[in-house]
Amino acid sequence: MKKQNILIVGGGASGMLAACVAAQNNAHVTILERNDRIGKKILVTGNGRCNYTNTMANVTDYNNQDFVSYGLSVFNPSRTMDFFKTLGIEPKVENEGKAYPLSEQASSIIDVFIYELNRLNVEIITEAKVVSIIRTNRSFTTYLEDGRSFDADKVILATGGKAMPKSGSDGSGYQLAEDLGHKITTVFPALVKLKLESPYLNHLQGIKMPTKVELIYKNQVVGQEEGDILFGNYGISGPTILQLSRKAMDLYTKGEKAYIKLQLVSGLSKTQVIKRFNHSKDKAVDFSLVGLIHKRYISAILKEANIEKQNTLVRDLSEKQLNRLIDLLFDWRFLIKGSKSFNDAQVTAGGVSVEEIDHQTMESKKVKGLYFTGELMDIDGRCGGYNLQWAWSSGYLAGLHASKDV
Ligand SMILES: Cc1cc2nc3c(=O)[nH]c(=O)nc-3n(C[C@H](O)[C@H](O)[C@H](O)COP(=O)(O)OP(=O)(O)OC[C@H]3O[C@@H](n4cnc5c(N)ncnc54)[C@H](O)[C@@H]3O)c2cc1C
Repeated sequence: MKKQNILIVGGGASGMLAACVAAQNNAHVTILERNDRIGKKILVTGNGRCNYTNTMANVTDYNNQDFVSYGLSVFNPSRTMDFFKTLGIEPKVENEGKAYPLSEQASSIIDVFIYELNRLNVEIITEAKVVSIIRTNRSFTTYLEDGRSFDADKVILATGGKAMPKSGSDGSGYQLAEDLGHKITTVFPALVKLKLESPYLNHLQGIKMPTKVELIYKNQVVGQEEGDILFGNYGISGPTILQLSRKAMDLYTKGEKAYIKLQLVSGLSKTQVIKRFNHSKDKAVDFSLVGLIHKRYISAILKEANIEKQNTLVRDLSEKQLNRLIDLLFDWRFLIKGSKSFNDAQVTAGGVSVEEIDHQTMESKKVKGLYFTGELMDIDGRCGGYNLQWAWSSGYLAGLHASKDV
C-alpha cells in the first residue's frame, strides 16, 4: 500500500484529530496552520475548560441530521472520551452530559495533541496561511500567502468557520472550497447573543435571571429553553438564548419576524398571581410587584402595560391595564433584530454544502482526494460540547479515509 502524503489545512480541533488518525494509519501528514501555534480556538472553549464532548450528543442536536448520523455513530462521544483518555485526558462529566478534562484546563487538550502529533512524526508548519489549492492530475499543489507551495496526494480542508475570526478561522476556507468547485450555503453567526427591539434595554441591562424562554414564530412556539438570561443594552444573552439563537438567526436571515418570549414569573400560576393582586389592592402597583419579579423589570413592564403612574393603587387600575400586566408577566415578547457579529459567536451556521460531500468518508463528491472536516461544512450543533464532537467525528472519518491508498 502506497504511503499517502496528506496535507491538512488548519491545525484546529478537527485538523489535529484527523492528523493523528491519518498518521496512526501510516500516512505522511503535514499540518499547515496560519497562526503561530495550533489549536488556538480550543483555549477559549468551555470558558477555558473545553467542553470537549457531550455524552448525550444525538443527531437531533445538529442541523443536517442525516449527514452527521454516520460520523456520530462511528466516532461517538464515548469513543471521543476513550481517544482522549488514551492521550491522558481524564473526563469530568457534568450536568446535561457536558464533558471537560479533569484538569479543568482547555490547554491540556492542546498539550496532549502536540505530544501525540510529535510522537507520530506529523509535520506542523505554522504561520502558513493557505491561499489557493490547485488540483493537478492525481495530486494537489497548495500555495501559501508567502509564496511557498506544497504538494500532496490528498488534502483535508479543516479551516473552521467564521466564528471568532481572531482565533484564525476567518472564513478563508470557504473561498478555497469554492475555488475547488464547491457550493457554500448562506453563513450566519450561531450560538450568539441576540439583538432585540425594545425601548427598555438600557434599563433592563444587567438583569441576570433563570427564566423560561420561548422562541415565537407566526404565534407558534418553535423553541424553548429554561435557564439564565442576561440583558444587555443591545438585547439579550445567556445559555438559553445561545441555544435558541441558531433557529432565531435562521428565521431572521430569511427576513422572517420572530420573537423572544419571556415568562417573568415562574413557580406561580396565573391564578395565584391574580389572587396576589386581589390581596394587594391597597398597594401601589409598582410595590405590588416587589418580591414577585426582579426589581429592574418593574418600571419597564408597567410602561409596557400602559400604566403611566407607577404608584397608581392596584384598585385604581382599569381592568384592561391589570389584565395586560398579568399577561405580560407570563408572556413578554421582544422582536429579534439580528445578532452580535461573528466576533461574538461561538459557531458558524452554514458553510460547504453537505450535498457534495460523502457522509461516510468526508470526501468531496466533486474532487477526488479532497476532504472536509468540522465547522467549515454546513454543520452546527447546540451549545454544550456538540460542535467539538462534530469536529472529532468528522476529523476521524477524514483522517481514516484520506490515509487509504484508493
Ligand atoms: C468562544 C468559543 C467557545 C466555544 N466553546 C465550545 C465548547 O465548549 N464546546 C464545543 O463543542 N464547541 C465550542 N466552540 C466551538 C468549537 O470551538 C468549534 O466548533 C471547533 O473548534 C471547530 O473545529 P474546526 O476544526 O472545524 O475549526 P477550528 O478549531 O476553528 O480550526 C480551524 C483552524 O484552521 C486555521 N485556518 C483557517 N484558515 C486557514 C488557512 N487559510 N490556512 C491555514 N490555516 C487556516 C485556523 O487558524 C484554525 O486554527 C466554541 C467556540 C468559541 C468561539
